[in-house]
Amino acid sequence: MIDAEAGLPDPPAADGPGLFGEAPAPPAAPKAPYRVLARTYRPTRFDDLIGQDATVRILRRAFAVGRVAHAFMLTGVRGVGKTTTARIIARALNCIGPDGQGGPTPDPCGVCPNCSAILADRHPDVLEMDAASRTGIDDVREIIEATRFRPMQARMKVFIVDEVHMLSRNAFNALLKTLEEPPSQVTFIFATTELRRVPVTVLSRCQRFDLRRVGQAELAAHFARIAEKEAAAIDPDALALIARAADGSVRDGLSLLDQAIAQGSAEGDAVIRAERVADMLGLADRGLVFDLLDAVVAGQPAAALAITDQAHARGADLGVMLADLLELLHTVSRLKAIPALRTGSELPEAERVRGAALADRLSVPVLGRAWQMLLKGVAEVDAAPDRREAAEMVLIRLCHVADLPTPGELVRQIGAQGPQAVVQPTHAATPAPIPTPVAAAPAGGGMTVRQPVQTGGALRAPESEPEPEPVVGAPEAPASVPAPPPPSLRSWREVVAFVATRREATLHGHLRHCAHLVRFAPPVIELRLEPQAPRDLSQRLAAILTDATGTRWTIALGRAAGEPTLAEQAGALDADRSREAEAHPLVQAILAAFPGARLGTVSDASLDEYGLPPEPAVAGSASPEPLLPEPESPDMEFAPDDSEPVGLHDLDEPRAG
Ligand SMILES: [Zn+2]
Repeated sequence: MIDAEAGLPDPPAADGPGLFGEAPAPPAAPKAPYRVLARTYRPTRFDDLIGQDATVRILRRAFAVGRVAHAFMLTGVRGVGKTTTARIIARALNCIGPDGQGGPTPDPCGVCPNCSAILADRHPDVLEMDAASRTGIDDVREIIEATRFRPMQARMKVFIVDEVHMLSRNAFNALLKTLEEPPSQVTFIFATTELRRVPVTVLSRCQRFDLRRVGQAELAAHFARIAEKEAAAIDPDALALIARAADGSVRDGLSLLDQAIAQGSAEGDAVIRAERVADMLGLADRGLVFDLLDAVVAGQPAAALAITDQAHARGADLGVMLADLLELLHTVSRLKAIPALRTGSELPEAERVRGAALADRLSVPVLGRAWQMLLKGVAEVDAAPDRREAAEMVLIRLCHVADLPTPGELVRQIGAQGPQAVVQPTHAATPAPIPTPVAAAPAGGGMTVRQPVQTGGALRAPESEPEPEPVVGAPEAPASVPAPPPPSLRSWREVVAFVATRREATLHGHLRHCAHLVRFAPPVIELRLEPQAPRDLSQRLAAILTDATGTRWTIALGRAAGEPTLAEQAGALDADRSREAEAHPLVQAILAAFPGARLGTVSDASLDEYGLPPEPAVAGSASPEPLLPEPESPDMEFAPDDSEPVGLHDLDEPRAG
């Protein structure tokens, strides 16, 4: 087979097994056989290796000073150039230079018989083996046998073993002996994607090189050079997409570039555009992902869903789109953290410009929170029966949370201005309902956030009805006031509280936990006691009250059920409050934003020492108060657009930009 194109090396006589895996071009093609880019542009010199500067520097130096190891271990993800590097080493060891007089060199000439035979994969002394298909001890014995013979025409026999981690244990053991005392004219070059599966005994006898994943910018630049040589017009954004999809692998990227060039540009367009490549890759194109992030941070679920509809119609997987969004958030966060990226060339221009705008707009905590939610969301999508639905739910959630103040911000605001400042909407004079502070405790920080939660269905007041000071129930109001000389004992709770002031802690405890009020008609109190209540409870209580008031009190014990004990009432109220707090959109948003967060103790400063709301100043009322307004409807998972403003910002107010 003769290569029609001048300047290119001959096509290989036989492909090394498992090396690059591409199918050879059909030989019957009318013109020169097409060769895939990965083969055409395979590096032939150390300096051509993309993105492996450290490895190249060390190898060059080793050849320059004549201290070349007898065994190498090349490791790295697929497609970074492990076997390519191995072949360059084989040439460097065996090059004799154009004049036939040269020795081992960091810059193999590429034209001497050894160089060209190795380039063409047909040198008798350079043997490649794919351990993935030949894992047994017999295969290794073959190699070991071969090491006993001198090289036929080269200085050095080179054994390249790809995917060496696949060798069996026995095969490794057999190899080890040879590695311990390698014949002077033999070099082993091992390559592996899974270094951990290579025995340490083998590893310790090799010089190891970690070929690193090639960065996107390097890949994109490399692909741009190749596209130019191929006379293919490809938009830089399209190349960036390919570089991103290649995920560090030169070979994977080149095969995508192959596909893109083969597919060509859209009709009526001279250039292959990003949208075209995105379609090919099944990706939403980058601009669309930016649009999506814009919509999300602006808190516009309708806009976000319109974008996903568009992407879905074009065949993009919404789960992949969420992953793209996650990656974009990372880029924006990097732009925020490293301002130099805005002017550098690591990122494509579109990412630099639009990404920087977003980075300026978003705080680090907001970025972090969105990242956490998305991370969780991507996993949810993978687990969901319908990926599209799941992805949309994640986006809706994200839209509603993106603009909420962070717990840290809330703490600062509350610290600076008091709780009312946070519950107060910014634009309208709205009568504030009774604030019920709650505490949300993110699992990680252990931070407690006191955040007023609006209870009850307070409606937004018309603008025409300005209320000067909307303080209805100040949290600091009902502190325990020292009882006046004749104690006011207008309710059962006041009676119990009074007992506490008389240093009767035990009696006080029993009254709270064991006494059900049946009737309160001073100076007569009728109670039903739990069995564990002390027998003298009624006498002691009567004595204390009589002593304090100068009036004779009667404590009657009855069998009527009566009220729950004070302790029971407080417990029920506490549970209600937790439920209510948990149902509140803001709390839900916080819980959603901090995966693993849970609601801590819900405290209410307006409650008295029994954890009960202040009693109306009506004596003799024994019926329990309606404890709290109805909690919000439980099916309200997200703050609806017409829900009450919950913070400094209005979620339903689209921001400009
Ligand atoms: Zn040479």
